[in-house]
Amino acid sequence: MGAHESTGDRPTRSTRRTFLSASAVATAATVAVPLTAGPAAAQAARPAGPGHPARPQAPDRELRALLRAVDRDRIEATVRRLAAFGTRHTLSRQDDPNRGIGAARDWIFAQLSGYAAASGGRMTVELQSFVQEPAPRIPVATRITNVVATLRGEQNPNRVYVVTGHYDSRATDVMDAVSDAPGADDDASGVAVLMELARVMATRRSEATLVFAAVAGEEQGLYGSAYLAKQLKAAGADVQGMFSNDIVGSSTADDGTRDPRAVRLFAEGVPTAETPAEASTRQSVGGENDSPSRQLARFVSDVAENAATGMRVRVIYRRDRYLRGSDHISFLREGWPAGRFTEPHEDFAHQHQDVRVVDGVQYGDLPEFCDFRYITRVALVNGAALWSLAQAPGTPKGVAVVTTNLTNDTTLRWQRGDEADLAGYEVVWRETTAAEWQRVIPVGNVTEVTIDLSKDNVFFGVRAVDTEGHRSPVAFPRPGS
Ligand SMILES: [Zn+2]
Repeated sequence: MGAHESTGDRPTRSTRRTFLSASAVATAATVAVPLTAGPAAAQAARPAGPGHPARPQAPDRELRALLRAVDRDRIEATVRRLAAFGTRHTLSRQDDPNRGIGAARDWIFAQLSGYAAASGGRMTVELQSFVQEPAPRIPVATRITNVVATLRGEQNPNRVYVVTGHYDSRATDVMDAVSDAPGADDDASGVAVLMELARVMATRRSEATLVFAAVAGEEQGLYGSAYLAKQLKAAGADVQGMFSNDIVGSSTADDGTRDPRAVRLFAEGVPTAETPAEASTRQSVGGENDSPSRQLARFVSDVAENAATGMRVRVIYRRDRYLRGSDHISFLREGWPAGRFTEPHEDFAHQHQDVRVVDGVQYGDLPEFCDFRYITRVALVNGAALWSLAQAPGTPKGVAVVTTNLTNDTTLRWQRGDEADLAGYEVVWRETTAAEWQRVIPVGNVTEVTIDLSKDNVFFGVRAVDTEGHRSPVAFPRPGS
């Protein structure tokens, strides 16, 4: 140890000037780097480079009018009606007019058909049935029926966005098809969301196609949604986004904690359907936080966190909760971007429970534990996301970052979309440590651009914009030529 490093050698006469200098340095450092944030966060907050700061997309007049039409009383009536069928278990009676999943199926079909009647022929409703042979949680061959309303897009009918809730329910024993299983939160709440959106969108003209599906067989193993996804794939549909609304009925946890202005959106990182070649690329240059589902989740935050919804979208970076799953997984398996909306906290006394009172505590998934204003706000978030997706251009395809030569700038290429109102494209970028796109570079109606910024140091994306300013979700480029 050198003499000057010993504490005994510290100057004993500190002047006022040295004190002030040290203080000024400390103050400057505090301004540049907030004490609560590390250096990486400070760098991510204000990256230097081209473009303007990314901003949310505000709802336009048409969307605000659509959201104002969402009716809390109808949502409450739907949840209460579905709970009143006693049980909607997938293995329950299908031919009883009052009790069981068949009665629920017929009621949903009649409601949606009524909405479609006001659509000028744009919305059609079908009972999409198939026979599920014996399988896990399906002891005997069972007819499973999805109730599907489709609002056909007038500009790009093959581009499809899907919203689901599952109308089947369960009691404590997943094979119990007889006991009461009101399933108000799980998942009459999600069915009420898609039905109310079908109603308010039926009378409007959409550029892309919207599918509103009440699916069955979820509690037995996602059977209905798997069939719906396979039917869409077989029809050649270009599904560019899907949302499962599953348990969106309450914002109150079992300890009474309330968070009535937040909804969780679960979105996977590494794609469920990733190929070995795609995995190899990801391992080489990153992208585990840039799956199509993550871009979809960022889009939802961008268009649905605002005064029109009154909600915060809490994106969760995982496919679903521990030990749980929902119908978005059926769409992820087909390689499509998808996410799951669910309430911010859960009360497990009111899920998958026989209706009973134990020690003065009411168990069971009853409508009295639902918050209908909360479900209505979740419907607003879904409505803002779906309508914004369907009126914007599709997500750019064939987006590549050119890697034929070693360079310190970045050339991006993509295919031009075929939307009639396409205005052009924006390149977005962010620090690799940032979760959200940070800066936006409008590049015009081109299909190639070179940015003076190294592809090695930041993440890039490309999105399309129409003449009214509606933006698509971001496409993350693959290395290419
Ligand atoms: Zn559920």
